[in-house]
Amino acid sequence: MSCVKTEGAQPAEKGRDGLDFNPYEMMEPRLPGKTPKNRKNGAEVKNRNLEPEGVYRPDYNILTPNMRSPEYVQMSTAAAITLGVTTGRMYRCSCTRCLNLLLTYPEGCRANCAYCGLARHREAERNYADRNFIRVDWPAVPMDVVIDKVAGDGGNSPFHRMCISMITHPNSDADTVAVLKKWTDRIDPEAIPVSILSNPTTMGRADVQKLKDLGADIFTVALDAATPELFDRTRGKGVQSPHKWSKYWEVLQDARDIFGPQKFGVHIIVGMGETEHDVLNLVQKIVDMGGHNHMFCFFPEQGSLMDHLPATPRDQWRRVQLGRYLIDYCDARVDHMKFDDHGRVTDFGLPTGEMDDIINDGLAFRTSGCPGKFQDDISACDRPYGDSPPSDIASYPFQPDRKDIRKIRKQLEIPHRLV
Ligand code: SF4
Repeated sequence: MSCVKTEGAQPAEKGRDGLDFNPYEMMEPRLPGKTPKNRKNGAEVKNRNLEPEGVYRPDYNILTPNMRSPEYVQMSTAAAITLGVTTGRMYRCSCTRCLNLLLTYPEGCRANCAYCGLARHREAERNYADRNFIRVDWPAVPMDVVIDKVAGDGGNSPFHRMCISMITHPNSDADTVAVLKKWTDRIDPEAIPVSILSNPTTMGRADVQKLKDLGADIFTVALDAATPELFDRTRGKGVQSPHKWSKYWEVLQDARDIFGPQKFGVHIIVGMGETEHDVLNLVQKIVDMGGHNHMFCFFPEQGSLMDHLPATPRDQWRRVQLGRYLIDYCDARVDHMKFDDHGRVTDFGLPTGEMDDIINDGLAFRTSGCPGKFQDDISACDRPYGDSPPSDIASYPFQPDRKDIRKIRKQLEIPHRLV
């Protein structure tokens, strides 16, 4: 079994109509359709009430068992391969360093984010545990099996970090606490630190504090959209979804106060209709607050409300990816960069020699996320092929080699004679 899906993959060298960026006007999500009553809120799964038996691998054609957190969690296929609960190979990677866990319920996520394969509107066609998410399947695994395996590996665990991803569900806050407690009862959070990918819509400051008190190391907020308009269009009223930009910022500020510098951050998706200036301005704001930025390249997830739209052209992505790294780790500032009338970066504001070294180093083009045990600017969470097919890599889940750097330079439209 392979961990990557390539269906629907489009070469993203240039965007639609030959554009080298995805403009706001073009990136309009389609509207969610109506869900038949007998498929709402996981009714089918709950009515059949099939007892789960061990690991469940997503399969649209069989009866989906009734699985629920905190007894069950889903995990990325890469994490499941690394944990040894499923088999498969990953192109040019041997394992992932982050054990990403996702809360799971038959009712699924109650939000409707336009770019997300887990969104509520999909209950019309696919049970929650069978939905694809960031391009791959997420098997469901009993939490006790997860903990037994990781505890059994002791100091030899391949994982440098564990992450609990919340979804929008009435039980999500309490079950995140339950999963975290189960983990820290058996596994030292100093040995494998825990990140929380939060769901601010259901949270208050006390919830953030509780997770910190229970041993969570890093708290992140998936803003995903870089501007309030785009947020509302893709995650709020525009798609009958409950999220609000102001609430996300409120919880982000709580996280800054409670978790402290370098221990909080945001997720941002690039190429959903914002400008490069919009994203890098946001990146700067987060860095000025003391946080970090984890970035994804927009990919039209099959079955999502944006699956008819183009992936982010590689030149737009590479410019923003590089700009993010420069601001996050190299003391560059957005106000020293130059942008054209479309908000595209034309100058990163650093001397050519320094830029060459940073580009050739390749770290700027690796997947961004919470750090593991190698170094601060190498993410434990490498999410293999979560934002692109392996044939046209957006975020490199491994160290890019000379050939990769040549390709990256071409995409950045920087000559590769110095590589
Ligand atoms: S809240 Fe998260 S999981 Fe739910 S639809 Fe939005 S992006 Fe997907």
